[in-house]
Amino acid sequence: MDYKQHIAIVEDWPKEGIRFKDITPLMDNGKAFKSAVDEIVEYSRDKEIDIIVGPEARGFIVGCPVSYALEIGFAPVRKEGKLPRETIKVDYGLEYGKDVLTIHKDAIKPGQRVLIVDDLLATGGTIEATINLVEQLGGVVAGCAFLVELTYLDGRDKLDGYDVLTLMQY
Ligand code: AMP
Repeated sequence: MDYKQHIAIVEDWPKEGIRFKDITPLMDNGKAFKSAVDEIVEYSRDKEIDIIVGPEARGFIVGCPVSYALEIGFAPVRKEGKLPRETIKVDYGLEYGKDVLTIHKDAIKPGQRVLIVDDLLATGGTIEATINLVEQLGGVVAGCAFLVELTYLDGRDKLDGYDVLTLMQY
């Protein structure tokens, strides 16, 4: 399916120089959204995934229907201060400054096979930090799936040795 027709490109948002890829038109189209989710589900089938992990907020939107279809759990990765129980955390670099991502300490059991799902791979900072959290808990990253990849930002360089699926490339 040609998913790109359902992506809105917003120039200079949230700041000048950024070409924001808005996935909400894709979410708005039931057939296209289902097809995209189904592709990630099919990609996952032979990977013996135990749990899906997705970073806030659009990782929840894409990851939760995958978890529902595979009848496995979903563990959220969130900014610091958002998860109510004991967490582990990782600092990661943003374009300007730093941020912190967290996951519940009991979200993943050692040895569990994890699929990480997010909407978009840009510089790879978010996925790298999410992989770090999963591996700190002893999880095995069996795959990483995204709707969109911005190839010019070379995020894949941070995913050397990991299995990666992206449905659209810019
Ligand atoms: P990164 O950590 O640089 O790979 O950025 C990944 C996260 O930032 C993704 O989860 C996206 O939601 C968001 N993001 C970064 N760049 C864009 C963009 N050009 N359009 C839409 N979302 C973006």
